[in-house]
Amino acid sequence: MSDAETLFERIIAGEIPSEKVYEDETTYAFRDIAPQARVHVLVVPKKRYRNLAELASGDPQLLADVASTARKVAEIEGIAESGYRVVFNTDGDAGQTVFHVHAHVLGGEQLGHFGR
Ligand code: 5GP
Repeated sequence: MSDAETLFERIIAGEIPSEKVYEDETTYAFRDIAPQARVHVLVVPKKRYRNLAELASGDPQLLADVASTARKVAEIEGIAESGYRVVFNTDGDAGQTVFHVHAHVLGGEQLGHFGR
């Protein structure tokens, strides 16, 4: 499978439109199409890794870039002070649907507890 065949690769390439929040050399951040909170932004590394585990072992600096971009998104969205959540759904039980690792940045309102 080539990188261009994944949904997020096509979004990063501009082949599928997205509402960009932030972009730099290594990461891209855009609004989730089905927001689960008032603020719901996805942060993806431009280089594709399947999930958090593969990113962490394959390119720790890129994982740090994703974390840094998540913080910048919180500042851009005005939720850095009020608080926010960063989630990496990882494989089956977590319900990961797009296998190009991405951080969900959620906030802008009081979030409920998570789990089951
Ligand atoms: P996952 O379930 O893999 O953790 O998260 C995938 C996320 O991608 C979901 O929250 C879903 O709403 C979002 N998503 C799926 N397709 C699109 C799309 O075409 N555009 C945008 N902006 N988000 C998408």
